[in-house]
Amino acid sequence: MLENIRVVMVNTSHPGNIGAAARAMKNMNLTQLYLVDPVEFPSAEAASRATHAVDIINSAVVCASLEAATADCSLVIGTSARERTLNWVVENPHQMAATALAQLQSADAPVAIVFGRERTGLTNEELALCHRLVHIPTNPDCTSLNVAAAVQVIAYELFNSSLETHAEPATKPEGDDQVAKAGQIQTLHQHLYQVMTDIEFFGSNNPENVMRRLQIFLNRSQPSRRELNILHGILTAMQRKL
Ligand code: SAH
Repeated sequence: MLENIRVVMVNTSHPGNIGAAARAMKNMNLTQLYLVDPVEFPSAEAASRATHAVDIINSAVVCASLEAATADCSLVIGTSARERTLNWVVENPHQMAATALAQLQSADAPVAIVFGRERTGLTNEELALCHRLVHIPTNPDCTSLNVAAAVQVIAYELFNSSLETHAEPATKPEGDDQVAKAGQIQTLHQHLYQVMTDIEFFGSNNPENVMRRLQIFLNRSQPSRRELNILHGILTAMQRKL
């Protein structure tokens, strides 16, 4: 089951952190590493810090954007060193592991855990692509872990929970009742934007703020494909009428 957990590292500055993260993953039986726009990769330092996990480094997938790295995932969990709770469900690592493993049992698609830049974490645009957040509780005076250390904590929780998770659920949603993938939610968001533009909803206002809120709302709601299709149908009918 853990083979469908995808660790996504965004715009990592230090290749040593990529290596250390790969090592942490290997210890905890995770294999899928995606790197969004890494500052230096491939790198001898990443390979050297990975030690026996060099296979994870060698099979790492490099992507240009977080959207591309998560489009095929059924659940995208962002990590945050801050307790930015507004609009997001924020879990601790233990709860996150239970959520992620339950998702893997009900959907045949990867679950992504997204880690941010060493200095600045994830941008608001990147957070808006996440369906929920996980925060590692810390000393309130020092909340930010090294990114590879954060990967270690999250990977450990996932591994430990996987040891406790046995039974498959009796019914697995099929076809259009399956939970939508991240890219399918993005497509609906774009369709909504198109129709809102067509009906001149925004007037002289900048669409960015309201579109960001709608994106966070859609991503939080974990729609099925059928539900997205209904919304597409409504939007298409509106476009026909215009
Ligand atoms: N100043 C940045 C800190 C980035 S730390 C910020 O406030 O976001 C680099 C990365 O390590 C984070 O993006 C996150 O992926 C991970 N990380 C560090 N501390 C964490 C914590 N307490 N909980 C969850 N993830 C954490």
